[in-house]
Amino acid sequence: MRFSASAGRCPVIAIIGGGFCGTLTAVQLLRRAEPGTRILLIERSGDFGPGVAYSTRDDRHVLNVPAARMSAFSAEPLDLVDWAGVEPDAYVPRRVYGEYLRASLAGAAARSAARLERVTGEVVRARPARGAIELVLADGGHIACDRAVLAVGSLPAAPVCELPDDPRVIRDPWGELVGEGDEAAPRADTATTLVIGSGPTAVDVALTLCGSSPRARVIAVSRHGRLPFAHRAGLRRPLPAPALPAGPLQLSELEHRIRTHVARVDAGGGDWRDAIDGLRPLLPDLWRRLPLSDRRRFLRERLRTWEVRRHRLAPAAAASVRVLRVQGRLTVLAGGVERIRARRGGIEVRLHDGRSLAAARVVTCTGAGLAVAATPDPLVRGLLADGHAWADPLGLGLRATRPARCSTRPGAATSASGCWGRCAAGSCGSRPRCRSCAIRPWPSPTASARRSPRPLPSPSRSRREASRLSNRHNDRVRISAKVDYAMRALVELAASGDGSPVTAERLADAQGIPQKFLQNILLELRRAGIVASHRGPDGGHALAKPADKITVADVIRAVDGPLGSVAGRAPEDMEYQGSTMRLRDTWVAVRASVRGVLEGITLDDIASDHLPDSIGRLLDGSDAWVRR
Ligand SMILES: Cc1cc2nc3c(=O)[nH]c(=O)nc-3n(C[C@H](O)[C@H](O)[C@H](O)COP(=O)(O)OP(=O)(O)OC[C@H]3O[C@@H](n4cnc5c(N)ncnc54)[C@H](O)[C@@H]3O)c2cc1C
Repeated sequence: MRFSASAGRCPVIAIIGGGFCGTLTAVQLLRRAEPGTRILLIERSGDFGPGVAYSTRDDRHVLNVPAARMSAFSAEPLDLVDWAGVEPDAYVPRRVYGEYLRASLAGAAARSAARLERVTGEVVRARPARGAIELVLADGGHIACDRAVLAVGSLPAAPVCELPDDPRVIRDPWGELVGEGDEAAPRADTATTLVIGSGPTAVDVALTLCGSSPRARVIAVSRHGRLPFAHRAGLRRPLPAPALPAGPLQLSELEHRIRTHVARVDAGGGDWRDAIDGLRPLLPDLWRRLPLSDRRRFLRERLRTWEVRRHRLAPAAAASVRVLRVQGRLTVLAGGVERIRARRGGIEVRLHDGRSLAAARVVTCTGAGLAVAATPDPLVRGLLADGHAWADPLGLGLRATRPARCSTRPGAATSASGCWGRCAAGSCGSRPRCRSCAIRPWPSPTASARRSPRPLPSPSRSRREASRLSNRHNDRVRISAKVDYAMRALVELAASGDGSPVTAERLADAQGIPQKFLQNILLELRRAGIVASHRGPDGGHALAKPADKITVADVIRAVDGPLGSVAGRAPEDMEYQGSTMRLRDTWVAVRASVRGVLEGITLDDIASDHLPDSIGRLLDGSDAWVRR
């Protein structure tokens, strides 16, 4: 199969992934695109609309959000309610929601001046080619397009331990067990199924298996052993969020404020769920305002506690779960899985605490993968390997230039990438928000060339070259190569995790910096109190203070001297006469303006992919990217 790009006529926009985000991106583009625009929606399953979440045919699997809050269109909140003919507080089957997405796509295509083409196939590679983007399909086909949108959903999680290659060990519950509803569930099943995980998918599996056979039993085992909380019945009104300070936040402070807020709501006879739901619109912003180290701590220590409260079960699903637990047909255990062995009589699962469990089959329901670099997905792996995409600072998903930014104008390069869903935690901590069109820019080949830094000398460049670069001072408004290297090394340290030392060799390798040159830079940064160096076998370099306390201005001053000097002198020391009198004021104003930018951005802002809004506004300027 071969499609060709627009060749200067109408744009061709390819959307990779025809699930929830991809379909709604297509709908938005169809609504706004210029006549003749071709929109290719590429989906490997051949079913355009429902994606993983809404493909189930088991009507025991319902939405976990009331119909009034699941409209595909934020400007038409009752669209789903009207379409499905249900009450606003109904939790409709996810199968019905899948149909709604298919119907929304068909309706938008029928009314659009643009052309929608549904392409069944799996994209395994995306790369720039002759001014366009070339997509390679698993069947060997090629598609050329002007813009590509990445909407491939959550990446699969790495298995909790090595899984035996046995049909009784089910890795994908949607494909192999519950996806087909009753037809696939073993009838009159008296067997015990062990489910690894206790989140919403584990609940779905339990509802399908126990609903299909009155004698089936399910044991759910997860590290925390907690099922999601339940929604309260009726259409609840989220409570206003508490007042929160502007600017950077610390996790401990944020938690304290939220706990106090929830306690106040409780004391006033309200419900904690409505307090938590009131925070929802703030979540992406709050997440970005946390320093990287706090985001990591949240993922390590708080994620489960948060998820069981935030992603709750519909009242009917929660009631069924209660009944199954009372009947002893659903048991939930806390424990980490150490080993799974397939035996002739069943599957044996050993937990870290030494317990051993036996089951007729095991189903893994561990949710989305949280390490994009380890994904087996060929498309995402290729994008990372070819340098067309980068992992976000936490490695959960793909980095976007301006997270959660609305960008649906026709022809915009967009990406609702694998970092949506749980993986979006890496950039904005939110679930997919295509209902409000939060899709992200994915630079086209031209745009990415425009934005990427000029190639820097490879580590093999001579010392003379390095020293020539190091002597280039910042005496004009120019960022020296030395500053650029210093910043790269420091941001690498800021993003590298728990603050343990990193060797100069690793920093140099990671950023392509000549090692000798880097050693000198690190020495200067150490003298300025920005970096601390540690000796010994585990030695290396670490930031000497928190990343959110080191500004770009601090780094420039450490390696290049004071900001905004004029011919090596401070602007206020310059002397002018006659008609040039106001030049001194001009240079002082230039310095003040440069400081405004450089003192306003910290290492943490850069490492955590969240530049301050004032800087974002500068970047949005129509000619900000034009050299002159
Ligand atoms: C079981 C479950 C229940 C959920 N229930 C709710 C709910 O009630 N309410 C709610 O708001 N959210 C719910 N969610 C969250 C839900 O995941 C998101 O709301 C949303 O469906 C995710 O959309 P997506 O487009 O990112 O992924 P998906 O909808 O899964 O779409 C990704 C699509 O891309 C395709 N694809 C992937 N790679 C390629 C490729 N290389 N080439 C071609 N096609 C490709 C896949 O086949 C898939 O169809 C649920 C999630 C799950 C797993």
